[in-house]
Amino acid sequence: MIIRPKVRGFVCVTAHPKGCEANVKEQIDYVKSNPAVENGPKNALVVGSSTGYGLASRIVSAFACHANTLGVFFERPSERGRTATPGWYNSVALEKAAKAEGLYASNINGDAFSQEIKDQAIERIRSNMGKIDLVVYSLAAPRRTDPKTGETYRSTLKPIGSDYSNKYLDTDKKTIQEATLEAATDEDIHNTVKVMGGEDWELWIQALKEAGLLADGCKTVAYDYIGPQVTWPIYKDGTIGRAKIDLRRAKDAISESLQPIGGQALISVNKAVVTQASSAIPGVNLYITILFKIMKDLGGHEGCIEQMTRLFADRLYRPDRSIPLDDLGLIRMDDWEMEAKIQDAVTEVWPKVTTETVDELTDFDGYQEEFLRLFGFGVKGVDYEADVDPVVDFD
Ligand code: NAD
Repeated sequence: MIIRPKVRGFVCVTAHPKGCEANVKEQIDYVKSNPAVENGPKNALVVGSSTGYGLASRIVSAFACHANTLGVFFERPSERGRTATPGWYNSVALEKAAKAEGLYASNINGDAFSQEIKDQAIERIRSNMGKIDLVVYSLAAPRRTDPKTGETYRSTLKPIGSDYSNKYLDTDKKTIQEATLEAATDEDIHNTVKVMGGEDWELWIQALKEAGLLADGCKTVAYDYIGPQVTWPIYKDGTIGRAKIDLRRAKDAISESLQPIGGQALISVNKAVVTQASSAIPGVNLYITILFKIMKDLGGHEGCIEQMTRLFADRLYRPDRSIPLDDLGLIRMDDWEMEAKIQDAVTEVWPKVTTETVDELTDFDGYQEEFLRLFGFGVKGVDYEADVDPVVDFD
């Protein structure tokens, strides 16, 4: 079939297998054009490995560090004439490319929050990989069922304390609108912490540790965002920010639990990038379009793969084995985004952006292109007029 993008709000309901494969290949080529990471991981588990930061972490693990990788994700294969989700196609492409280089790459598609998927991962690691020396935890999920109680929690993106009005970009209509977000209830906060906080990260590490599958000196890393003041009411000071505070609590608890094997838990605060998760956050897409224009003009613009390449080479696996941290004990990959010259420019531009000035003051076109690329559309070298089979499977 000929596959075209079908965008519905902040998702595209189709994905292009060849485009996704080409995207993964581009990321692999980028990693290979950089120096190899000499003392990187040899056996990596990536939870949330099919898109965004998790996919980039897996690509860097495999192609910069020559690590064997197990990827865990929640994606839909192609069925009844519908295309698969992009994370499915990405993971098939990654497995193929890794195997072509003689690397072990295996996948588990299912709910990472469940005990069943943790058990499957443990079994797979025990049988095929040996001990794990890096666990990347990169889930972005709308809901989680607590495996102990069976209760399901839904995460929300809401301000805390009072309602909050701000402008946002309607990408369908290319207009700047104003929206008011209702203040979170205590239950919203609790539920968001249950889904996006650190509890499940702790359960993964606990399960691996109890199975004796964590190598001495292993590292585990999860991802965080702080961003500029203009997004704080909805991000850092909102329900998702509370979940990130809980992630930091979990980091300390995990580090303590890993002390006997010399392991360490880390949090990397990453840059704002276009992913399926970030495009769903109200107001953040407007910030990203402004940020991208400024960072492309002033220098330092990065996507997931550039960020993760720098995270592994310049933070997690430096030749002298030191890991630079900020005052809160966090790795700061958002260092370039948060530079004063960049943020001063954002602060100056933000109030001036209106429907009339979107093209002039933001990187609207660049944002749209990157959004479509997430689904495999608009990728160089792909023939979008060609008939393609949407059914693509793992070996
Ligand atoms: P993403 O939407 O691109 O990826 C989410 C991943 O989680 C996918 O692999 C998906 O399959 C997987 N997933 C979701 N629910 C699952 C489930 N129940 N079981 C198994 N897998 C599941 O997201 P992203 O933007 O790369 O976010 C990853 C992390 O990075 C999050 O913690 C996010 O807060 C953080 N982060 C993102 C940004 C950004 O701008 N996108 C910036 C800083 C930090």
